[in-house]
Amino acid sequence: MFERAALIHYHEIGLKGRNRSMFERRLRDNLVVALAGLPAETAQRFSSRLLVRVTDPARLDEVCRQVADTPGVSYAAAAYVCSRDEHDMNAAALMAVREVPGASTFAVEARRSNTDHPVSSAEMNRIIGQHIVDATGLKVDLSAPDVTCFVEVVQGDAFVFSRKFPGIGGLPVGTAGTVISLLSAGIDSPVASWRLMKRGAVVVGVHFSGRPQTADTSERLVTEIGSALSRYGGIARIYVVPFGELQREIALAVPPDLRVLLYRRLMVRVAEEFAGFERARALVTGESLGQVASQTLENIAAVDDATTLPVLRPLIGTDKLEIIAEARRIGTYELSTMGHTDCCTLFMPRTPATRASVYEVRDAEADLEVDRMVTDAVASAEFVDFPCPAYHPPERLPEGVVAAGVR
Ligand code: ATP
Ligand code: MG
Repeated sequence: MFERAALIHYHEIGLKGRNRSMFERRLRDNLVVALAGLPAETAQRFSSRLLVRVTDPARLDEVCRQVADTPGVSYAAAAYVCSRDEHDMNAAALMAVREVPGASTFAVEARRSNTDHPVSSAEMNRIIGQHIVDATGLKVDLSAPDVTCFVEVVQGDAFVFSRKFPGIGGLPVGTAGTVISLLSAGIDSPVASWRLMKRGAVVVGVHFSGRPQTADTSERLVTEIGSALSRYGGIARIYVVPFGELQREIALAVPPDLRVLLYRRLMVRVAEEFAGFERARALVTGESLGQVASQTLENIAAVDDATTLPVLRPLIGTDKLEIIAEARRIGTYELSTMGHTDCCTLFMPRTPATRASVYEVRDAEADLEVDRMVTDAVASAEFVDFPCPAYHPPERLPEGVVAAGVR
């Protein structure tokens, strides 16, 4: 009898002063794409909230979950939309409270965002509370109720709900620029990418595969990881670069213990090239301090020396177990543990250097044709796209770069 909707609260956007309407528009456009295929209408703005009307009430929870997984959302409430008439609000409140089975105590929290309604919030709490007591026999408990019925009165309408879907928070994708994420098919880098999209960045991935020395398994996995991350609307594109030949070239030319560092230095140079035409301002990796032998402060410095862009490492202080828990939560863990031959395990030395100096690696690199290698890598890249309304693909791509399957 009442219309159902996902009522969206956003926290941090509210703090953004003059940028606020830009942030709201961004979130709204992102939601249009996130909700494609679900029975939901375009979000409308209502006194610092967005409202998504749901046309098939049976799928309300599905809509709320998708909304809650969109960066910038603090929570999505499964709301009844009703008039500001007392009978309507009472009836909706009763239905909302009954949505939480097994509750024996409740509270009502009414709020008016316009004071044009004649009844005060305290009075509303009392009236609606009494109605619930009479109809259900539940007891009022204001300190620790089993269910809280929220009533939000705005101009023209009231929203009533008792179920909130906690959102991932952060900022709408597209409010923080673009980053290039070095995306392996491992556990860490998808989580690092997710953290950046949660903070409003558009993420463009670059994946280095061991092809032609290995099969293309990691390429397929990283594409599936992209699809999983796509739920959050922040991944725009993944470039896949066959890296096997270049690794072989490095392996033949440099001391074995420095190989991995030189692969990495070449990777960040290639990533920087992509950043150039993607207008990205930073690189992202999934490194965590000391997690493996190569992730020492010395090696980090030796890799950063190969790029002028900031290299963001959002997991630097995060433990593996925490990263795994996050990977499970965001839905990439299963894919990341399917097993594949990573390009980095190709031509792996028995004892990689753990404390290489910048001078040592520069020296080892001196005989390599680094510029040509970067050009070769870029020219062999293929890309896959994901729906991301905040993304503007480059108008021109370097020679050789093509959509996957086109070559
Ligand atoms: P991950 O779980 O992300 O693979 P890891 O713990 O295996 O990380 P490393 O293999 O040392 O650690 O890689 C460190 C970082 O370097 C990765 O998080 C990723 O950002 C980048 N990287 C490693 N291999 C690749 C690759 N094949 N393609 C793109 N980026 C890579
Ligand atoms: Mg790895």
